[in-house]
Amino acid sequence: MNYNIFFQKAIDQLHTEKRYRVFSDLERIAGAFPRAIRRDGEIAREITVWCSNDYLGMGQHADVINALRHAADTMGAGAGGTRNISGTHHYLVELEKELADLHNKEAGLVFTSGFISNEASISTIAQLLPNCLILSDAFNHASIIEGIRRSGAKKKIFRHNDLIHLEHLLKTAGHARAKLIVFESVYSMDGDIAPTAAIADLAKKYNAMTYIDEVHAVGMYGPRGGGITDRDNLTHCIDIIEGTLAKAYGALGGYITGSKSVIDAVRSYSPGFIFTTALPPAIAASAIAAIRHLKKSQMERIMQQRQTQKTKDILIQAGLPIIPSETHIVPILISDPDLCKKATDHLLEKHDIYIQPINYPTVPRGTERLRITPTPFHNDALIEILKDALLETWHALDIPFTNKKQSTLVETNHFVALTVSQAGG
Ligand SMILES: *Cc1c(COP(=O)(O)O)cnc(C)c1O
Repeated sequence: MNYNIFFQKAIDQLHTEKRYRVFSDLERIAGAFPRAIRRDGEIAREITVWCSNDYLGMGQHADVINALRHAADTMGAGAGGTRNISGTHHYLVELEKELADLHNKEAGLVFTSGFISNEASISTIAQLLPNCLILSDAFNHASIIEGIRRSGAKKKIFRHNDLIHLEHLLKTAGHARAKLIVFESVYSMDGDIAPTAAIADLAKKYNAMTYIDEVHAVGMYGPRGGGITDRDNLTHCIDIIEGTLAKAYGALGGYITGSKSVIDAVRSYSPGFIFTTALPPAIAASAIAAIRHLKKSQMERIMQQRQTQKTKDILIQAGLPIIPSETHIVPILISDPDLCKKATDHLLEKHDIYIQPINYPTVPRGTERLRITPTPFHNDALIEILKDALLETWHALDIPFTNKKQSTLVETNHFVALTVSQAGG
C-alpha cells in the first residue's frame, strides 16, 4: 500500500474544488501598521494588509511590546511546564484576575489559544452535566463544533440567530434536562450580532446554561472592551463568556470566565487545559497590557468604528457588493471560489493589497467572499486606494457587481441555509 497516494488524492480534491489554501510569506512591520513585507522567492515587496484580526493594531502598541520585553527579560522565554508543574507564573494569575474583572465574573481561566479554550471548555462542561443537550447556532466556529463533538453529548443545531427555532428546541427538551446554549456574539464572516438578551431570556425561561464566544468582540465593544455583553449590560445574564487574547488584544491565548465552580471544574477536569505547557510569561504580560489599555482608552474603538463606516460608505457608493453588517467586519460577496481566489491574487500582484479569500468550508458554498477588516490605522487615503483597486479588479476579472445572493442577504441580513460545516456533523 502506498500511503502517500491517499494524501495526494486528498490534496488533489481541494485543488479540484478550488479551495486549496496557500499561505503568503508576510512580515508585519512594527510601527507601520497595516504595512507588511511580502516575500515570494527572492522578491520582497511592501504591501497593505486589509484582513488582519489584530483589529486595533494592539500587537504593535508600545505598552504591549514593552510589557512583553520586560517579562522576557525578567522571566525568560518559556513557561517551563504545564500549569500544574511550573507554569502558573505570576503574570497568568494577574491575567486571570484581569479577565474575570473585564467580564464581571468570579473567575477566569487562560488556555493556549481561543480554539483550545472552546474545545476544552465546551467538551468538559457538557461531559460533566448528566445527559446534557447542547443547542448550537448553525454558524458557530470550528472550535465550538470540535468541543461539541469531543463532549459526546447530544446536540441540536438551531438556525442562525433564530429565536423561534431555539425556543422550539428548548421546549422539546423539557425543563428538567441539562441544556447548554452555545453561540457567538459577533459572527466573524457576516459581521452580524446575536440577539444576546433574547437568548439569555430563553435560557432563563427554560432553565438552560449559556456559553457565548466573544472572540470577535472583546477589546472592540463595550466601554471597557468587554464585548457585546459589556456594551449591552448583559454580563450577568450569560453563564460563561469566552474570548481570545490573539485578535483585538494582539497577543496569543484564549480564556473563559464564569462562576468559581464552573471555572474550577474545567481547570480540574479538562485535558486540553491540564496536559499542556502554559502560555509564556511574556505573552501573558503583553495580553495584560493590552486589556488594561483597552479598559480605559476609547480612542481605538472610536477610530475603528469611524474608519469601518467610511470604508463601507465608500465601497457601497462605488457599487461593490458589500454585505450589510452592524460591525467592524466588511464582507464583499463574490459567490464563486475560483473568482474569489483570482480576485485576491490580482489585488496582491497588481495593487500590493493583501486580502485573504474566504471560501468553503469557512462559509457556505456560493457565498465566497472577501472579508475586509478596517482598523484605526486604515486611514482615508488607504480607503481610497482600496476602492480604486477593488473597482479595477472587478472590471479586469469581470466580477458581477450585484448578485442574487446579495439581495437575499440585504433582506434577511443572514443566511437562511444551514451552515455546511455543521450539517450532518
Ligand atoms: C479565531 C476564533 C477562535 C479561536 O481563537 P484563537 O485564539 O485564534 O485560537 C474562536 N472562536 C471564533 C469565533 C474565532 O473566530
